[in-house]
Amino acid sequence: MSAHQNDTHYDIIILGTGLGGLVCGYILSKNGYKVLLLEKNAQIGGCLQTFKRFGVKFDTGMHYIGSMLPGQILHRLFHYLNLLDDVPISRLDENGYDVFSIAGRHYQYASGYDRFIDTLAQQFPDNREDLREYTRRLQAIADASPLYNLRKVEENVFIEADYIKTSINDFIASVTDNRSLRDVLAGNLPLYAGVRDKTPTYIHALINNFYIQSAWRIVGGSDCIAQSLANSIRRFGGEIRTRSEATRILCNDTRATGVELASGEIIEADSIISNFHPQATIDLIDSHLIRKAYRDRIHGLENTISNFTVYIKFKEKSTPYLNYNYYFYENEDVWTANDRKPGDPLRSYLFMHQCAQDGQQWAQSAELIGYMQFDEVARWANTKVGQRGEAYLEFKERTAEHFLDTLERSFPGIRSSIEGYETSSPLTYRDYTATRFGSMYGIIRDKNFPTQTLVSQRTKIPNLFMTGQNINSHGILGVTIGAALTCAEFLGLNKIIDEIEISH
Ligand SMILES: Cc1cc2nc3c(=O)[nH]c(=O)nc-3n(C[C@H](O)[C@H](O)[C@H](O)COP(=O)(O)OP(=O)(O)OC[C@H]3O[C@@H](n4cnc5c(N)ncnc54)[C@H](O)[C@@H]3O)c2cc1C
Repeated sequence: MSAHQNDTHYDIIILGTGLGGLVCGYILSKNGYKVLLLEKNAQIGGCLQTFKRFGVKFDTGMHYIGSMLPGQILHRLFHYLNLLDDVPISRLDENGYDVFSIAGRHYQYASGYDRFIDTLAQQFPDNREDLREYTRRLQAIADASPLYNLRKVEENVFIEADYIKTSINDFIASVTDNRSLRDVLAGNLPLYAGVRDKTPTYIHALINNFYIQSAWRIVGGSDCIAQSLANSIRRFGGEIRTRSEATRILCNDTRATGVELASGEIIEADSIISNFHPQATIDLIDSHLIRKAYRDRIHGLENTISNFTVYIKFKEKSTPYLNYNYYFYENEDVWTANDRKPGDPLRSYLFMHQCAQDGQQWAQSAELIGYMQFDEVARWANTKVGQRGEAYLEFKERTAEHFLDTLERSFPGIRSSIEGYETSSPLTYRDYTATRFGSMYGIIRDKNFPTQTLVSQRTKIPNLFMTGQNINSHGILGVTIGAALTCAEFLGLNKIIDEIEISH
């Protein structure tokens, strides 16, 4: 495919090795393009990175995945990406993979639509028909999206406009009058950092459809996804360089010509794909090709909230393994979780045990995640990892102790099972993935400004493209499909869909 004789000139440079960059690297190198992936960190993967403390590996941004039964959408994509043998998975409890504690009452989502309805109808017997209608509409939205069903399309359409223009809370309110059931149906909103009256319905529908089909943990850490994709890319002839931060995207009068690294090295390419945040990407471009209006629009986009996480190592055989995810809301009206201001007590969180081995009896480790706004750590904004000072360490410890006290109320005695813990803050995410303000899922999609808050894989520079969670959608499925959209700029979407289908 490459027309170049010169070894140092690439067809495509991909900036960043998050899931989106790696999937693009896989598809394009498999199709003969000479690709180079540049990663600023020592470790590849972005949110797929893991770290080790107390002899245990912790995930940082990929805790559970869905639709992994043969024939289901992620299974088909993993097959195409040659991931199935390298990514061991363990099924979450089919009778309740997500458990919700809302104002003291417990509810659960079961796997498969019929069981999902039956399980919730036990607590909401008068709302069985509402539940049926809710699931019917979820499936209709998911089925209507060609890409999420790997159907060929005439153009790059990924979802119908109606589902972009309705908010999740309006959608849920339209299926049931029961306020408690509305809360339960919105209960996993931390999965997309949903904002009341903003987040469009399709995000909720695609994510819930994805997990209701089947829900799984990755055994032993999500870095195996990054490693497997990287191995494939190298096998296809692609190159990956770590500790290689792009500091400028170079342009001539009409197009991008290459990239300058922090070391001063310049590398040329026919095309460039940026896998990191669009706001950070355009900050690397000093060219008239990026007009002020586009720059202002991208910079004006609001980002999803960040989080504070406590990574917990349990004492040996102290804690029975919970094969479900636990969402806690102190009060009714789950949407208020988003209103947590600096200094507010923790009133909602997500608690997940990690899976070290399929079928394990005891938990080795867990993660406790609560929303946190960047403002809460803004006073350390100019510091770097490992050099933020004593006051920051005290803040982290105080916050972690408060989080653990809150957890103890739902799991009495859990504190005495803890051997040690580590923490991360919005600054950690900002510095490890270059996401703005440590935002969990990038730019907020707003149903009130549907076109303005959707970032295209195309930029104002004809040979510069974007990929990753800020185009299409976040999460393992959203980013993988977004990467296919980006690669479609080179290969055509239907060719990629054909390849996925043929591989199956
Ligand atoms: C706390 C948390 C929990 C999550 N849990 C789940 C989950 O359970 N299931 C799920 O499906 N999704 C989950 N997600 C979402 C999912 O992890 C992300 O949507 C997805 O991994 C983002 O991939 P990305 O391609 O956008 O790249 P990112 O992961 O954002 O990676 C971007 C990469 O670019 C690199 N980079 C940045 N700047 C430069 C530069 N100048 N030069 C070179 N490289 C650079 C970064 O170092 C990084 O490696 C979670 C996210 C978070 C934050």
